[in-house]
Amino acid sequence: MRLLLLSDVHANLEALESCLNAAPEYDAAVCLGDTVGYGASPNETIERVRALHPILVRGNHDRACCGLEDLDLFNSVAATAALWTRQQLSRPNLDWLRALPAGPVAHAQWPGVCFVHGSPEDEDIYIASDIAAAEALRAGNAALTFFGHTHIQGVFAWQDGTVENPTPMPSRIAGRLHATCLKLDAKKRYLINPGSVGQPRDRDRRAGFALLDTARHEVRLYRVPYDIQRAQQRILEAGLPSVLALRLDEGR
Ligand code: ZN
Repeated sequence: MRLLLLSDVHANLEALESCLNAAPEYDAAVCLGDTVGYGASPNETIERVRALHPILVRGNHDRACCGLEDLDLFNSVAATAALWTRQQLSRPNLDWLRALPAGPVAHAQWPGVCFVHGSPEDEDIYIASDIAAAEALRAGNAALTFFGHTHIQGVFAWQDGTVENPTPMPSRIAGRLHATCLKLDAKKRYLINPGSVGQPRDRDRRAGFALLDTARHEVRLYRVPYDIQRAQQRILEAGLPSVLALRLDEGR
């Protein structure tokens, strides 16, 4: 079984389309939250995601953009984008956002796999260090936990109470795609971030996603170029803060 992993699309339709075009064949998809917020195509992005019939988890921007949360904790740029998004969204798309489940989410078809936006303990916690990863791994018991929220593609592994940072190896299975491959060790537990589709923050401006292949016992991490200029143009035309367009170029 192959599972397509998408996270933090952030209303970037150009990036999402590039990822879906580049993705290898898959049996099911998951979207780990923050489908909207920041980007200029919230309705189109939600509709594209909904058409995948994915396993879903909500993100903090999803909550903010549908009014489930006030914007006090957001910086002014994020709050401006959330309010703009709320005004743009159609009624059905607002209702879809409001109905998204909080993580952790499990799914009968994927035993031993856990889906969260932030961490298994708290949907708003950022797993951005070995210490945070160790706390999350100590708290849960899933063999594989997929998370988003940090917009940083990568892997933490856990064995005998110690966190490791395995380096996925370059993979040629995907032809000219820039994929790296992590072989899963049954003795270890993993926290894996597929990367952000719509606003990468790891200094690589290409859109990120991943694929879990249970038959091959591996996770492949992908980076694909997309039409950044078009996404930036839409942000500026919408009157959103220009920094949201600039950061796409820098991948941070
Ligand atoms: Zn996000």
